[in-house]
Amino acid sequence: MAAGGAPIPAAQPVIGEEEIEAAVRVLRSGRVVQGPEVAAFEEEFGELVDGRHCVAVNSGTSALQLTLLALGVGPGDQVIVPSFSFAASANAVRLVGAEPVFADIEPGSYGLDPDAVAAEIGPRTAAIMPVHLYGHPADMDRLQPLADKHQLAVVEDACQAHGATQNGRQVGAFGAAGAFSFYPTKNMHSLEGGMVSTADAALARTLRLLRNQGMEQRYANEIVGANMRMTDVAAAVGRVQLTKLAGWTEQRRQNAKVLDAGLTAVETPPVAEGVGHVYHQYTVRYAGDRDAFMAALTERGIGNAVYYPTPIHELKPYREPVGGKPVRAWDLPETARAAREVFSLPVHPSLTAEQLDRIVTGVNEVGEGR
Ligand SMILES: *Cc1c(COP(=O)(O)O)cnc(C)c1O
Repeated sequence: MAAGGAPIPAAQPVIGEEEIEAAVRVLRSGRVVQGPEVAAFEEEFGELVDGRHCVAVNSGTSALQLTLLALGVGPGDQVIVPSFSFAASANAVRLVGAEPVFADIEPGSYGLDPDAVAAEIGPRTAAIMPVHLYGHPADMDRLQPLADKHQLAVVEDACQAHGATQNGRQVGAFGAAGAFSFYPTKNMHSLEGGMVSTADAALARTLRLLRNQGMEQRYANEIVGANMRMTDVAAAVGRVQLTKLAGWTEQRRQNAKVLDAGLTAVETPPVAEGVGHVYHQYTVRYAGDRDAFMAALTERGIGNAVYYPTPIHELKPYREPVGGKPVRAWDLPETARAAREVFSLPVHPSLTAEQLDRIVTGVNEVGEGR
């Protein structure tokens, strides 16, 4: 009984005429890999990270992985990460040979709980990786001083949080480095792509070497590096998207306001004092039969999805012993509850007023058992 209109997608990546023209312009130019477009994108992205150095790479996962490598995090080291995130956060830790240590989250922000992090800091801790999940910053005003006290590097996973702020400060401008993703469903994209932000010029240089076989001058390799370069086609698309990001974020916030005001059947997402949420996802909680609730929404043409149904520590590669070491029995109650209760509703900037109205009405009706 899909009441009126086509299904409303959960996400709606934009590839508009401007993006297409930018890509074609680069293809015709012949300068297609890590050329002038990448340099310009890095310069312009600085506006999102308090003017920090920016280093473009080929994905958000690469951004995290290269940052850990550049910081010298590797075998024998531990990195404290949330288990309630996309697997890429912990994968980056494992890819450099380090060990993820999972700490629980705060139920409102879904970010790392500073007290839980403090309890996990030990002699092998090398870094803390807060994830700004759904576009809501983790509590950096508590996590950063905690890291400073123990002389630990903070690597912000800002892959879902372009432009989010806590007390006026932009994510990606708190820690030693921040990692952003430009995958098509993120708040802005470059088809595929990623960016590292850092205030440390030496770290930025190491990142530039690592992404390009360890070379600054061609064939004068200084260190062992990978190929994680961004293409100029990607950078050109990203530059177009960057000019639209502020408007899209404003639209996401307006959409969230409508949902906040209208939804009665589910717990709407709280925003912590002093936080500028960018609503990568509009994520609600429902303590009842979530699967049935979501199926009824799908039936009505209302897009919905769970990010993430399985905590990382319960995924296969994280349930298996590494190097013969038995896997810890993680006790993460808020992570478990979030994985059980959350689901996300459409909040993307392409939504119309009529679609928002259908979402509110549909969710409330399903909640009331109608
Ligand atoms: C998308 C995402 C990543 C990885 O970004 P890719 O560009 O897909 O590699 C990492 N962490 C989080 C939290 C993400 O949402």
